[in-house]
Amino acid sequence: MAQPSIAELKARVLRAIDARREDIVGLAQAVLRDPEPGFTEVRTAQRVSRKLAELGIPHRTGIALTGIKGYLQGGAPGPTVAVLGELDSLRVPGHPFADQETGAAHACGHHAQLGMLLGIAIGLSDPEVLAALSGRVALMAVPAEEFIDVEFRYGLYREGKLGLLGGKQELIRLGEFDDVDMAMMCHTTSSLADKKLAVGGTSNGHVVKLVHYQGRAAHAGGAPWQGVNALNAAMVALNALQAQRETLRDGEHPRLHGIMTRGGSAVSSVPADVRLEWRVRGGTTEAVEDGDRKADRCFKAGALAVGAGVRIVTLAGYLPLRNDPVLMQVFRQNAERLVGKGQVAVHPAGQNAGGSTDMGDLGHLMPVVHPYAAGATGTGHGVDYLVHDYDAAVVTPAKALALTVVDLLADVAGRAREVVAGHQPALTRKGYLALQQGRIREQGYQGE
Ligand SMILES: [Zn+2]
Ligand SMILES: [Zn+2]
Repeated sequence: MAQPSIAELKARVLRAIDARREDIVGLAQAVLRDPEPGFTEVRTAQRVSRKLAELGIPHRTGIALTGIKGYLQGGAPGPTVAVLGELDSLRVPGHPFADQETGAAHACGHHAQLGMLLGIAIGLSDPEVLAALSGRVALMAVPAEEFIDVEFRYGLYREGKLGLLGGKQELIRLGEFDDVDMAMMCHTTSSLADKKLAVGGTSNGHVVKLVHYQGRAAHAGGAPWQGVNALNAAMVALNALQAQRETLRDGEHPRLHGIMTRGGSAVSSVPADVRLEWRVRGGTTEAVEDGDRKADRCFKAGALAVGAGVRIVTLAGYLPLRNDPVLMQVFRQNAERLVGKGQVAVHPAGQNAGGSTDMGDLGHLMPVVHPYAAGATGTGHGVDYLVHDYDAAVVTPAKALALTVVDLLADVAGRAREVVAGHQPALTRKGYLALQQGRIREQGYQGE
């Protein structure tokens, strides 16, 4: 029997995805209604696992606490292409689909990615398609892309349950990407204007700070002079951080921002326990290091001003995103065929969206592509961020990614081998772990 052509394989993939549209969108919407933040995505992972089991796809669960990894085996040996979907939600109280108790909400659209993952699994499970592929597809549902709940994660780190605090970071550390040659995923966005899909651009690197001010409790009315006000220490630090802004270089997309997770214990007692989670972002290593140094200075300044103690934990955040040019090109061609040439935006490599993703970390080890899909409205990470068009946000990107896999692994995986041959990894896994684990540090400072 003659091998089917690539065009025939792609037509089969598209038919399979279209036939199961309701299932694919249904999974995304079920996840939307039951949001769980990073490293606690237990029910979300169960939903994904059930769907993979229904398709007869062997997979492991509980990787990096909640992650899933399954394989689709092609008809011949060849490279492994990983397709990723992020499991985690944010916390945005007030979002229409927020969990009333925890404030967890899919205000970044990761639920759409799990629908995509199912769509890709369905499209590529077609036996005739699989038989024509040389290599494997690793289907990975990955935990904890949003770098939030830092105190909780640092607790897991100290208990030895995590070694790095982002989901893909931890999967890298655990060696789960050692058998993967290249990786791809697609993120929904509300900022594509009139386009349907976008590819290219970069993201910020960052480090994460956990700041704990220790003051001395005393009667806030009767004898405040006997106390040391940790809230005032934090307030001085926040003002000092604002004073850094004019020193942050244009063009490097620096961001110093954070939240207060504890502001004291009882209003009648001088606050003695005040905590911040902070973020220092920048488009280059130098910009991140510059912001990191200044942030430490500011946190210490607060402690100095009131005579409090401060403990500053610095954690390894993400690295800037690097899209592989060949993967971008293959994705772009498929995207243009699906939605029309004028509907695919191509961002220049240096266009920095300001946020951060651990797909940046993975892109330092292997070729990756991290395109964007339309179909959402509102402000990303805001109360009004909603996927309104599930065809644009889930079905179309699932098709584009599945067709990209076909191009990579059909014809004895010639394109995939070209991607591997043309890629110079920025870091080895060993070098990556040395870099990221080396950024984790804890320092104490006592204001005198
Ligand atoms: Zn996000
Ligand atoms: Zn996201």
